[in-house]
Amino acid sequence: MEKKQFKSESKRLMDLMIHSIYTNKEIFLRELISNASDAIDKVYYKTLTDKDKTFNKDDYYIRIHPNKDNRTLTIEDTGIGMTAAELEDNLGTIAKSGSSDFKDDQEMEEDFDLIGQFGVGFYSAFMVSDKVEVETKSFDEETSSVWVSEGADGYTIEPGTRTTHGSKITLYLKENSEDNNYDDYLEPYRIRQLVEHYSNFIRYPIKMVEEKSRVKEDTKDSENPEYETYLADDVLNSMIPIWRKNKNELTDEDYNNFYHDKRLGFDAPLAHVHLSIEGAMSYKAILYIPGQAPFDYYTRDYEKGLELYSNGVLIMEKCSELLPDYFSFVKGVVDSEDISLNISREMLQQDRQLRLISRKIDTRISEELKKMLANDRETYEKFFTAFGNQIKVGTYDKWGQDKEKLQDFLLFYSSKEGKMVTLKEYVERMPEDQKYIYYATGSSVSQLEKLPQVSIIKNKNYEILYLIETIDEFVTQTLKQYQDKEFRSVSSQNLGLEAPEENQTDDDTKTSEVDEKLLAKMKDLIGDEVVKVKTTAHLKDDVAYLSTEGDLSIEMEMTLNTMPQG
Ligand code: ADP
Ligand code: MG
Repeated sequence: MEKKQFKSESKRLMDLMIHSIYTNKEIFLRELISNASDAIDKVYYKTLTDKDKTFNKDDYYIRIHPNKDNRTLTIEDTGIGMTAAELEDNLGTIAKSGSSDFKDDQEMEEDFDLIGQFGVGFYSAFMVSDKVEVETKSFDEETSSVWVSEGADGYTIEPGTRTTHGSKITLYLKENSEDNNYDDYLEPYRIRQLVEHYSNFIRYPIKMVEEKSRVKEDTKDSENPEYETYLADDVLNSMIPIWRKNKNELTDEDYNNFYHDKRLGFDAPLAHVHLSIEGAMSYKAILYIPGQAPFDYYTRDYEKGLELYSNGVLIMEKCSELLPDYFSFVKGVVDSEDISLNISREMLQQDRQLRLISRKIDTRISEELKKMLANDRETYEKFFTAFGNQIKVGTYDKWGQDKEKLQDFLLFYSSKEGKMVTLKEYVERMPEDQKYIYYATGSSVSQLEKLPQVSIIKNKNYEILYLIETIDEFVTQTLKQYQDKEFRSVSSQNLGLEAPEENQTDDDTKTSEVDEKLLAKMKDLIGDEVVKVKTTAHLKDDVAYLSTEGDLSIEMEMTLNTMPQG
């Protein structure tokens, strides 16, 4: 029999397909299942447009059969199949997509979505196989054909014996090597895992033929029952993704179960957002605000991102473009029919589409947080405990370009309220004569309460924000002001205060000669540790305090001094 050469100048192209497009061998199963699902979709579409034909849902499925004795893995479908000519066209030409042509031919309606479009997925089978056999019978023809290939050097097509429409792809797995254990793909648990991971939401049942054992019927009541093995089908995929369901049909528990099933986190999420967007770019998404930061969240190892599906098929586990850095804690999934993929499905071509989705996600998460802050303060504080530092970094990151948006999500500890407050709350209760938003920086609230300059402000009955995280002052330095009120450190020289009445006669600007001498003596004793020693009219219960000349607090100056100089 004549062996035919692959059409598109092949050996090198085929090598490229097999060795460099995919980084991960296991995706071959996803590709073959996607093709099978497309093939069934095509039958479905034909029956929709042909009144003489009906589509009986039970007749349509994908069946995987791992056979350890033969070291083969078969993937069978009851789809549209291929004629000999189509076999030649579709599998004899690399980068020829019958599915893409099908779409063009039928002028398919928007909502009919085939997965295939690039015509290379099939060849991924050669990443794990020495030989691939395709026995197929077309929906439109009585005869069947068998296509066989051992890879780059060509293929044969012969008549086959299949009597029902559909295709059966048999993979003769490669021998195990040091780096690869191909036997793994014969293990039911592994197949189950791959299907759940990549193809869980394929619309047709994906069954696996599994060998099981049971008690023989006629020995059931005897003292020594005998066992027999039999083959049984298990459906592996859940078929309807939760994000395609209607919000009204879903309970909080459903959402939480999905969060845990998908291993998005082990905690209880604080909130979820279910998006169902129709338009130029249609997509569905379920997003979660987790209740706890993952253990590696504030390290370089943490990777932000959402799971990205195209039509129920997993494309990317962590698509980072979908989340702004300041919301990097968000977990969830996005599924879109409109995402354009490049041929490997591992990278996305269309940044613009992702940006569109990402902007929407940004807005909806912001809304959700605002709602939480307004209606459920306790939950919001939990959120802030877990992820507040990320929001703070977001306000000063990228030269503060997002500060306006993020400032209302900030919470700081208030001297007046004894709890966390927002900047808005602070400014709203400022007395008329108070000029600045005062803050004190230190390592703990109790340490700050003892500062002389804190009691100066407190004596005026003004509120102070206690900044006890190292990054807090980067935030106030970047914001500079909130609703036209400037931030001012309590250790600043200029606190903008009127002197207390009992000290009114002491004029700050005029220091007596005796005082001058005393101050000079003090400066001598302290030495270079301070720039100047001055009198003040503001102290009441304390005798002295430290202040800085510029806008920075002492703590901030210390932090900056310990940073590497660039
Ligand atoms: P794509 O799916 O991107 O079109 P593939 O390389 O995966 O590319 O498949 C090439 C073509 O082979 C498909 O477009 C389809 O026409 C045909 N094909 C592959 N698998 C099947 C199948 N199980 N049943 C029917 N046709 C198939
Ligand atoms: Mg394909």
